[in-house]
Amino acid sequence: MPYRRWKRHGHRHGMHRMTEPRRCIMKIFEENAGHLSAEEVFMLANRYLPNIGMATVYRTLDILSQMNYINKIVSYDGRARYELVRDNKIHTHLFCVNCGRVFELPSLSEDLIERLKKDINGNAENMGIDVHSFDVRIQGLCPECKKNK
Ligand SMILES: [Zn+2]
Ligand SMILES: [Zn+2]
Repeated sequence: MPYRRWKRHGHRHGMHRMTEPRRCIMKIFEENAGHLSAEEVFMLANRYLPNIGMATVYRTLDILSQMNYINKIVSYDGRARYELVRDNKIHTHLFCVNCGRVFELPSLSEDLIERLKKDINGNAENMGIDVHSFDVRIQGLCPECKKNK
């Protein structure tokens, strides 16, 4: 269940334990739109929890991805980036094949999203899979890398 819904309902039912690092890192994702690397999360988390270590950040990011509160995206440079899971949105990520940065393309049309979801959910259901999120991967060159070519 997405974090927003967890905040509204989940803790009443004692679904998942929100430890201090988890709460802190979720706050960071809510306040910072975009795609954060573990190092960036660590730097931001340090302001709230000065004693937090890199190992805790990695572990917490893994747990939050498993809980489906954040998405883990691995780019060409091999670095993982993370973003908040938002309801009803298909992520359309463009990966720069040169610098590894991740961009988010403007959302697809509602109509197309609904059709895609229906199709994907139908197929997944047949395979016994519960779909958590959708992600479209596009490869290309970002404006900066294009300029430096
Ligand atoms: Zn680039
Ligand atoms: Zn994204």
